[in-house]
Amino acid sequence: MPHCRHRLELTGVVQGVGFRPFVFNLAKEYKLNGWVCNHTAGVTIEVEGDANLIEAFEHDLSNRSPPLAVIDSFIARRIECIGACEFVILPSSKSGDLSSTPVPPDIATCQDCLNELNDVNNRRFGYPFLNCINCGPRFTIIRDLPYDRAATTMCAFPMCVECEAEYHDPGNRRFHAQANACSKCGPAAFLDVENGSAAIQEAKSVIESGGILAVKGIGGFHLACDATNNLAVENLRERKNRFEQPFAVMARDIAVIRQIAEVSAHEENLLSSRQRPIVLLKKQPNSSVANQVAPRNGYIGVMLPYSPLHHLLLDTKPLVMTSANPSGEPIVRGNLESRQRLSGLADAFLMHNRDIEVVCDDSVVRTFENAEMPLRRSRGYAPLPIRLTDSNLSVLAVGADLKSTFCILKDHFAYLSQHIGDMGSLETIEAFERALKHMLGLFRVDPTKVVCDLHPGYNSARWATEFARRHGIELIKVQHHHAHVASLLAEQQLAPETPTIGVAFDGTGYGTDGAIWGGEVLIVKGNEFERFAHLRYSPLPGGDTCVRTPARTCLSYLRTAGIDWLPSLPCVAHYAPIELRVLGRQLDRDLNCVPTSSMGRLFDAVAALLGVRQQVTYEGQAAIELEALCDNQSTTRTYPAVIIPGAPAILDPEPLLRSIVSDLQAGVPRDQIAQGFHQAVATWILAACILARKQTTLNLVALTGGVMQNLVLLRLTLRLLRQAEFDVRVHRIVPPNDGGLSLGQARLGNWQ
Ligand code: ZN
Ligand code: ZN
Ligand code: FE
Repeated sequence: MPHCRHRLELTGVVQGVGFRPFVFNLAKEYKLNGWVCNHTAGVTIEVEGDANLIEAFEHDLSNRSPPLAVIDSFIARRIECIGACEFVILPSSKSGDLSSTPVPPDIATCQDCLNELNDVNNRRFGYPFLNCINCGPRFTIIRDLPYDRAATTMCAFPMCVECEAEYHDPGNRRFHAQANACSKCGPAAFLDVENGSAAIQEAKSVIESGGILAVKGIGGFHLACDATNNLAVENLRERKNRFEQPFAVMARDIAVIRQIAEVSAHEENLLSSRQRPIVLLKKQPNSSVANQVAPRNGYIGVMLPYSPLHHLLLDTKPLVMTSANPSGEPIVRGNLESRQRLSGLADAFLMHNRDIEVVCDDSVVRTFENAEMPLRRSRGYAPLPIRLTDSNLSVLAVGADLKSTFCILKDHFAYLSQHIGDMGSLETIEAFERALKHMLGLFRVDPTKVVCDLHPGYNSARWATEFARRHGIELIKVQHHHAHVASLLAEQQLAPETPTIGVAFDGTGYGTDGAIWGGEVLIVKGNEFERFAHLRYSPLPGGDTCVRTPARTCLSYLRTAGIDWLPSLPCVAHYAPIELRVLGRQLDRDLNCVPTSSMGRLFDAVAALLGVRQQVTYEGQAAIELEALCDNQSTTRTYPAVIIPGAPAILDPEPLLRSIVSDLQAGVPRDQIAQGFHQAVATWILAACILARKQTTLNLVALTGGVMQNLVLLRLTLRLLRQAEFDVRVHRIVPPNDGGLSLGQARLGNWQ
């Protein structure tokens, strides 16, 4: 039997996921000696022993690795034997080159831990912070790499004798589990003041009596209340100043969720995945959940508990669990901070003394064609990298101003940040800077370029300009819809230069001509694009006022199309005659009117036209309610989807709107009209793609932008495009909305 020694270098998600104990046990199994060591670049292993056994060991390393581990590269080479006589885990070293070591995301409580939590005979019975090598917080407690307890917010809790013994026992599930804790040595929960174990019981009674509870979780505070109590939910809405935007609900188990919503097999998998995202599910008509939780919405966002504290807090009743943030501000992180920022919002505070190093909101996903479509990629996913087709410079992209994320490129990977939020407030910009500093530090990145949106009014663009100036690095500006398309190409593992027909439909994006774009069909060739077709410009009188008032947008559309403002139309009836005269004059004189080709605004206009919604309180509301109207609608009216050829070609909404108005007057049911409108938009996409294919021979279509979250539209569009044999791509890894934008920006910025 030849005796030899191998040195193995592994990179990927190999820290904080039980990789070293796994290696240790595997080496024992194959009777190999040597060592394993974490360092900033990954994991290094040296094994010595029988050559055949080494081969088997190497094979098993990737095939039997722990569930959370992702091995990206594996290099083995033969080195000289030194006659080792045991296998050891060496202390982590800060050395190693500065290549990427992915940090694991926060992982929902595993079944083994859950069993212990509920076992009266276990020493961790009812302990709200138990975790093990397979579960628990990671990203939100890590301060630095390598991932060791001392470099996390757990450093404040020295392990007790029993925990320490588990930690050093290679046969134990908590062997080298950095966040290992028990009630003797670990963090504790308390209600309002440090009052010990009664905290959770008392917190439950606050909720039971209709109160609002602030709960400190993994990535920040939630506000929780009884989701079946209408008054409590309304009270929460009033205090939070959030009148209609849906709240997410947390339910104890799948059985409870089934009483709230329809759950497919794929959705059940997503709900119980270790990421534990909020999943948008079709509402059950007779659920006990208060109507105010997700008013006028066909869907409800639901999640399962993901920390032991949640498991202990939940009974049979589902709870509203919404991010604790005063409107427009980031989620609350610290105990003291919660007192200040949530005073007046919560009746009681269920807190704990494990610090959250960096905030991370819940993720939101939905399923489409039995696969995941992310709407917000955050807790459970961030900061796992997205693998790219080729190597990149160190680029930082700062995203858009709403649903903001940033993205860092390094080598073959894109690290997309957690959800940051609305960059309109100073607090969010501070949260952005904190999250950025955290990630740049963890991944040891020094950006050589910074990329932002073309929009001169974006706070993110201003921030990037200042950052570039301060660091003396290049600033690159990228057009919004171009970045949307590039983002989809990147996540789909397509090379950035892949020529594509990009259909980017959203609410708002600054165009190269200074207009507001958003109904764009682009021919994208790497860092260049041609605007092949777009929705006809219509003026937005008062710009942002229109975004909040679909009625206003609708009137503008009608005027542009030469359709009379009939008093019987709900959008006309929304205004007093004097207001109509003023608005008419403003449009006639083109005063303070911004031209827009936004598809989002056309959805708003049609929603207003049908009397669905004249005013919105959150982004996308009118379109969401219009989509909900199409439910179970099988009969489809056909409306003209006219394209006027030219460079660019123009999608002309005038004949479409004219037909809708005459249907309305003829008393055609609104749900049929809504469905017909979605069909018309899908037909437009098909027609534009066919035109584009004729001119360019391209067959690849990328569907992106916030409008593509609309499942009714997506389903109709895909059916048409596939019938015409296009190769169609939709978002599966990053959101189609602006939350995925920074990935595309980074990719384009890398190239320029
Ligand atoms: Zn566990
Ligand atoms: Zn302990
Ligand atoms: Fe967008």
